[in-house]
Amino acid sequence: MSRFFAKRFACLQAYTPGEQPTDQKYIKLNTNESPFPPSVGVLQAISETAVKDLRLYSDPECGTLRQAIADTFGFQKENVFVSNGSDDILNFSFMAFCDGGVAFPEISYGFYQVYADLYGLDAKKIPLAPDFSVKAADYCNIGRAVVIANPNAPTGIALSCKEIEEIVTSNPDHIVVIDEAYVDFGAESCLSLVNEYENLLVVRTFSKSYSLAGARLGFAIGSRALIEDLEKIKYSTNPYNVNRLTLLAGTAAMHENDYYMSNCKTIAKNRAYLTDALSQMGFTVLPSKANFIFAASPDVDGETLYLELKKRGILIRHFSNEKIKNFNRITIGTMEEMKSLVAAVKSILNGDTNEGG
Ligand code: PMP
Repeated sequence: MSRFFAKRFACLQAYTPGEQPTDQKYIKLNTNESPFPPSVGVLQAISETAVKDLRLYSDPECGTLRQAIADTFGFQKENVFVSNGSDDILNFSFMAFCDGGVAFPEISYGFYQVYADLYGLDAKKIPLAPDFSVKAADYCNIGRAVVIANPNAPTGIALSCKEIEEIVTSNPDHIVVIDEAYVDFGAESCLSLVNEYENLLVVRTFSKSYSLAGARLGFAIGSRALIEDLEKIKYSTNPYNVNRLTLLAGTAAMHENDYYMSNCKTIAKNRAYLTDALSQMGFTVLPSKANFIFAASPDVDGETLYLELKKRGILIRHFSNEKIKNFNRITIGTMEEMKSLVAAVKSILNGDTNEGG
């Protein structure tokens, strides 16, 4: 730390992103990316002309993309905000809407705590139920902003739209941010509530179901007033924060929604296969509606399994938090990847030495 660093950030614990290794090729099941490539239209959109146009700034209003998102989900452009990944939108939301304190699940997306710390917010971390689910009742009448990932991460367990509505209606004077990063893989979205409740903001990403993690694109849908607030923050920090190629890619992806939704169905099938295979080996697998599962073995601890799989060229995500340290989060990939994973886990449980190196 330099002597110039602001004192208020001195103790900040930054977020630790999942590994993005370059040392060898892994079966990468650690950061919930899609195993499928972007659609044909996205590949075509990144044309030579588009690359040449990079000399020009991008459209700060992101008008074409916002309209395409609005059309896809049945809203007006004014209800849609886009930004550089949903992390950016969550960051803006903590900055803009949480001065009176914020509540989120104790075990959830690690960035919530980081943003709360960044802005010096009072954060109430609500324990999960013993079955690792989020209990909606814990957030009703809570008298502060609420942020919930639905499905939750890293558990994959989802709340119903009705439960979200209970939280939203019982906190009319506070914002409720529902982070639907993983909703397309089988959970119920609460987008249908947006027109009814001015305190609901739904945050989505192109990183998971739309195969565009590297493009950095997220969007939020909410009341016009909430979107205007987010725009104000964006125009007060970095108005061109979505680059030209990403705007083109995102717009093309919206036009090929069917391709992505069909990939999500494949992921759900592969998730069922993996859940079944690991359960047969004695694992506890939480009921996931996301593109990952959260699983623990009675025979091998979480960290050992993570390390042994890494030796065999398979990356999964292990969290050191005491309450979940026996679990690992495993991204759902192609069926071939799932079969390789299952074979590797079997060999680890059998005590085979690593022949892969
Ligand atoms: N929310 C949740 C629950 C996540 O797991 C992630 C991915 N790390 C994000 C938001 C952020 O995704 P992105 O910034 O790539 O849109």
